Amino acid sequence: FLSIASHQLRTPVSILKGYLSMLREGSFGKLSEKQLAVISKAYRSNEGMLALINDFLNLSRAEKGTLEYSFLSTDIVEMVDEIVINLKTSAQAKNIEINWKKPEKPLYVEMDENKISQVVSNLIDNAIKYTPNEGGVSVRIAQEDIHNKKVRVYVKDNGIGIDPGEIDSIFESFQRGNRGKRENATGTGLGLYVAKMIVEGHNGRIWAESEGEEEGSTFIVELPLKLPKTKE
Ligand code: ADP
Repeated sequence: FLSIASHQLRTPVSILKGYLSMLREGSFGKLSEKQLAVISKAYRSNEGMLALINDFLNLSRAEKGTLEYSFLSTDIVEMVDEIVINLKTSAQAKNIEINWKKPEKPLYVEMDENKISQVVSNLIDNAIKYTPNEGGVSVRIAQEDIHNKKVRVYVKDNGIGIDPGEIDSIFESFQRGNRGKRENATGTGLGLYVAKMIVEGHNGRIWAESEGEEEGSTFIVELPLKLPKTKE
């Protein structure tokens, strides 16, 4: 059901995105400030719906074992940079500054860029969502353990934090933390589950660290720089 429903929804929602985007850009006439504000809201809402449909599609594909990856050596620094730029507006709306410690050199990782980008966007999006106004979010990349050739992306916030009893279960499907549910009514509890499947599809790991409620959280994605060669 999930798979069919998501497939059927994707086309009309994508068409809506196209028209809303043209409207917003003034292709059908100049908009007043009020009209532009409304169309922008509709556009953002539609974007949220598309992200949700993508989560559903990935979820059903992963559970059927048909999630396909196209691995390519990609600069993860540039990828994270683009994500941070894209999420700046939603952070600014809550007066949250994203402190992105961009490394000077590129760092190439063998990965499916679209999927890992979805994972990191989700983590930064969550960090903004579960951090009160005026809070802080920081993003950094570090090359861990030169011998094992692994890279880590850290997304840290000083938000609502996570109860130690929930730190693993939030990665299960449709699972939300109690505090998270109270603070933010909207959410499916699917983002981290899909993220975990994608990261594990890269032979990587994803986990959360938090001292507890009110203590903020750090989410870490660890990926091998190169995937082991598979036998033909
Ligand atoms: P959703 O955000 O839709 O509920 P996710 O799978 O992305 O789904 O997250 C699952 C749960 O993990 C959330 O409901 C929330 O309780 C908790 N969570 C995720 N990110 C954070 C964060 N940065 N700080 C505190 N709790 C978080």
